[in-house]
Amino acid sequence: MDFAWTDEQQAFRKEVLRFAREELKEDMIENDHNEKFSWDGWKKCAQFGIQGLPIPVEYGGGGADTLTTVCALEALGYGCHDNGLMFSINAHMWSSEIPIWSFGTEAQKRKYLPKLVSGEFVGVHAMTEPMSGSDAYSMLSRAQKKGDRYIINGSKTFITNAQNADMVIVFANLDPAKGAAGVSAFIVDKGTPGFSVSRKLHKMGLRTSPMAELSFQDCEVPVENLLGKEGGGSAIFTASMEWERICILASHLGAMQRLLETCVKYARERKQFGQAIGKFSAIANKIADMDVRLETGRLLLYKAAWLKSQGRHPLREASIAKLYVAEACVQSCLDAIQLHGGYGYMTEYQLERELRDAVSGTIYSGTSEIQRVIIAGLLGV
Ligand SMILES: Cc1cc2nc3c(=O)[nH]c(=O)nc-3n(C[C@H](O)[C@H](O)[C@H](O)COP(=O)(O)OP(=O)(O)OC[C@H]3O[C@@H](n4cnc5c(N)ncnc54)[C@H](O)[C@@H]3O)c2cc1C
Repeated sequence: MDFAWTDEQQAFRKEVLRFAREELKEDMIENDHNEKFSWDGWKKCAQFGIQGLPIPVEYGGGGADTLTTVCALEALGYGCHDNGLMFSINAHMWSSEIPIWSFGTEAQKRKYLPKLVSGEFVGVHAMTEPMSGSDAYSMLSRAQKKGDRYIINGSKTFITNAQNADMVIVFANLDPAKGAAGVSAFIVDKGTPGFSVSRKLHKMGLRTSPMAELSFQDCEVPVENLLGKEGGGSAIFTASMEWERICILASHLGAMQRLLETCVKYARERKQFGQAIGKFSAIANKIADMDVRLETGRLLLYKAAWLKSQGRHPLREASIAKLYVAEACVQSCLDAIQLHGGYGYMTEYQLERELRDAVSGTIYSGTSEIQRVIIAGLLGV
């Protein structure tokens, strides 16, 4: 077992942190209030190579292994306070780029990956529907094959980056009698007749990451736009969820580090009853718990990423890491607010935004309850 980052990984981490601190420093109170997506941040991250990190060099990516990618995303989340931008980038990477890379034909890879990597294209993953969330395969969206076309009908909700989509990976059932085995994935390009962004959605947190509903009405795509095999949608969804559950919360670890440092500083500076509040064991204990959560979260997430780097399929470890880091981050945000007293509750201190952003982690990519169902299921329960 080796718990050390290599010299290259450490140098890269430093470089990502420098980049995030210097280049990604917009006014988050204003952007959060106005639900403003940072195109500038998106482009800068793409130029730096973030969006393409795990994608092979031949498609314009960085060819980094999973552990190095996680290392970089954690540093990005530490240096950049725009959790919404981090989320938009992650959604794009794990549920658009990775499925194309893992399941696409060579023509699909050549057509989409260089543009997704360069940030010219924004990719979107459309699975959830108004009537199907955790029970994703009970979807009502349908696809029908007619000659050399597929015709897609249905609606999708809670779709991250929807308004900015250049291409959508949409899941629809081609053979409902087969249930989940009938679900297939299709690539729909922006501007395809019958495809539209139907309603913008407003969120509690991650307000700088756009979200909307999508509508597909007799939306025709050529057979070349099938991703993977007919009926292969569940394999694609499972694979992208495995990646996403390992990697999407790496930036949360960075945010947890930021929170911890903010709290240590405040606990040393803020005085009540004639002494720094950090001298009260109730406050010191919160800080210690935040540190324990961060360390535990890191170990779980790094282990899952390491297994993935070894070419394994760490379904259990991915679910454990996702469940733990998501819930730990919410608890650390609550502790940070409590530790700051009334100031923590004020928008100005930006801790309430961190909390609102963090709560989403217990819902997307499979809720905490679903992660527990997966973990218990793997134990035979
Ligand atoms: C910020 C954010 C971004 C998202 N981005 C996308 C996206 O880009 N693309 C996309 O397709 N979807 C996206 N989603 C949707 C997300 O995947 C779903 O919200 C999630 O899967 C839960 O589905 P649901 O909201 O319908 O809740 P439901 O499935 O209706 O669940 C409601 C409650 O019941 C619980 N529950 C359900 N089934 C079980 C069970 N078997 N055992 C125990 N408890 C259960 C859930 O845990 C939850 O507490 C996003 C969601 C959020 C919040």
